[in-house]
Amino acid sequence: VLVPEVELLTPFGAFELHRVPVDRSGTLRAWDGADVLLIDGLETLLSRRPAAGARPRVLVAGDNFGALTVAAVASRAKAVSFCDSAVAEGAVIASLARNELATRAEECGLTVHTAIGDVESESIDVVLWNVGRMTGVVVEVASHLRRICRANAVVLAAGMDKDLPPQTAPILRRIGDVTTHPGRRKAHLFEVSFMNSATSSLEQQPPSSVHIDELNLTVTSKPGVFSGDRLDVGTRLLADVVRMTTDSYGHVVDLGCGAGTLGLVALKIFPDAFVTFVDESQRAVDSARHNVEANFGTEAFQRSRFLRSNVFADVELETGRSAIDLVLCNPPFHHVNAMTDEVAWSMFTQSYDRLQPGGELWVVGNRHLGYHHKLKRVFGPVTQVGSHPKFVVLACRR
Ligand code: SAM
Repeated sequence: VLVPEVELLTPFGAFELHRVPVDRSGTLRAWDGADVLLIDGLETLLSRRPAAGARPRVLVAGDNFGALTVAAVASRAKAVSFCDSAVAEGAVIASLARNELATRAEECGLTVHTAIGDVESESIDVVLWNVGRMTGVVVEVASHLRRICRANAVVLAAGMDKDLPPQTAPILRRIGDVTTHPGRRKAHLFEVSFMNSATSSLEQQPPSSVHIDELNLTVTSKPGVFSGDRLDVGTRLLADVVRMTTDSYGHVVDLGCGAGTLGLVALKIFPDAFVTFVDESQRAVDSARHNVEANFGTEAFQRSRFLRSNVFADVELETGRSAIDLVLCNPPFHHVNAMTDEVAWSMFTQSYDRLQPGGELWVVGNRHLGYHHKLKRVFGPVTQVGSHPKFVVLACRR
């Protein structure tokens, strides 16, 4: 078994970091070159501040596995984290604990926000932001920075050259003065300040929408949500299976709901069903909530709930609600630039544990992913209930 490099050396100490889910190939680190540039940039900024001055409030954004938050907390800054992803939030908390920084994080008052809109206005001195790869997400975060930053704040934004949205620098120039540092570690670092720049505003991109004619549903997605600008072929295939079924179900879970297409179809086809929408991304859950309200109004809203959760970790079965009798799932097959079937496996095993006896799991996947074998190991018999040259829908019963 290959053991990936797990020790990150920084000016604030050496830290042990792991990917979540675990990288079975043993080749991927839990940080990238952009994280290193940001941590070095934080060190430079702190060295410019008077030693006896107040500790800065540092906002960490786009931290996938904890490298940035661990460094910020170790620097003794007051850290504030913006984490859309429940999986990333879990990884950050685990990284703090593994590096014996959990108590210090508590002392420094670490707060985690699942939406950048929730970060207090004019509260931030330094931003450490790994921008990732989605232009819409860059616009979303950038559009809040002026509001949440103090006048003399510095924003450090960095991304890997292969992923960096080409519009990053022009977008940042709309909100402040930008210095682009020379490229290093296959990444680029931008430093943004607001002191000399005229106030300009950056509008959010309009959310993308898809209309599904045969069901008369409009699905609108926040930036970064799966397949926001078109209906995924796999989603359509599973939606068709739901549309054609003659059975009825009392409590349906749309597991990994994205913008909620499958749950919306369930609300429409099963008029008495309660639907739980679950996704690890807050933007996805917010999109699903919006879509239920926009397509159906109050009645369907009252028979839905929307949860940000790593698979079923934070899904409680409320008393008085019927047990789960159908899970609909189009599992993810990659996480932070790496292919993985770990999440699909968790979704299958946890669905088995959460379904009531006789309850069913319907899964859509690319044929070559071989979900059939995994489902058979967990559930026993598996039936193919939908098919397309590239995709299959598989059904199994607890
Ligand atoms: N069901 C939606 C559809 O068909 O359009 C989205 C499917 S997309 C292939 C997979 C979804 O799973 C993404 O929205 C992703 O955010 C979500 N996801 C990934 N890892 C997850 C996890 N650990 N727990 C819950 N949801 C997760």
